[in-house]
Amino acid sequence: MRRVRGKQIAMVLQDPMTSLNPALTIGTQVGEVLTLHQGLHGRRLRDRVLDALARLRIGAPATRLGQYPHQFSGGMRQRVSSAIALACAPRVLIADEPTTSLDVTIQAQYLDLLKEVQRSAGLAIILVTHDFGIVAANADRVAVMYAGKIVEMGTTLQVFNHPAHPYTRALLKCLPDVGLKRAELVEIGGQPPDLARLGPGCPFAPRCPERQPVCDETFPPAIAVEDGHVASCWVATAANASPA
Ligand code: SF4
Repeated sequence: MRRVRGKQIAMVLQDPMTSLNPALTIGTQVGEVLTLHQGLHGRRLRDRVLDALARLRIGAPATRLGQYPHQFSGGMRQRVSSAIALACAPRVLIADEPTTSLDVTIQAQYLDLLKEVQRSAGLAIILVTHDFGIVAANADRVAVMYAGKIVEMGTTLQVFNHPAHPYTRALLKCLPDVGLKRAELVEIGGQPPDLARLGPGCPFAPRCPERQPVCDETFPPAIAVEDGHVASCWVATAANASPA
């Protein structure tokens, strides 16, 4: 797995301030992955580190590579983390809440940059997020997870326009509508289950308004509700996949 991680599959974590090593320069941290996986040293290593930083639009990379994480802004630190992740041209990038620590403007710039790199490199990105706006603007396909399992999966249009799983529908209802004045915020009642004590049935059952007797007994299989759109729910059918 160590041969695969960093080379074929890479990851960008939530908070670059904790994922970057504060005691090592940026150049050392970007270079480490290139030395480990591609055996680069010296001049060739330095050139590749400069390329990796320039690709993520980090200005004056020759100066920046001798600096430490605290000398970068939050957005720039996340670009450095991405430069490390993308340095070896992986096939898949897992981006776990990569914009949580960024403000909205920097978040949009960062996601645009990531999309550009994704297109130019033919990279697949698995974007883990709680933000439906980011999903709608960036994802081709969406997998909705509950209690550690995928409960619905389809194209972004399918999941947003015809959510088939009650949990997905509940999540979409929680989105505030800025056009509605004084409307109450909707929430999903109850609590997520204890993952160490999951029963045999559907883990969403205690919170589900559409719960049936069978839901408590057996975990629902994935049912195709449309071409390329599946949901794990006993009542999910093409007929009840409701328009959002
Ligand atoms: S399987 Fe039953 S409890 Fe689970 S989401 Fe579907 S209707 Fe609700």
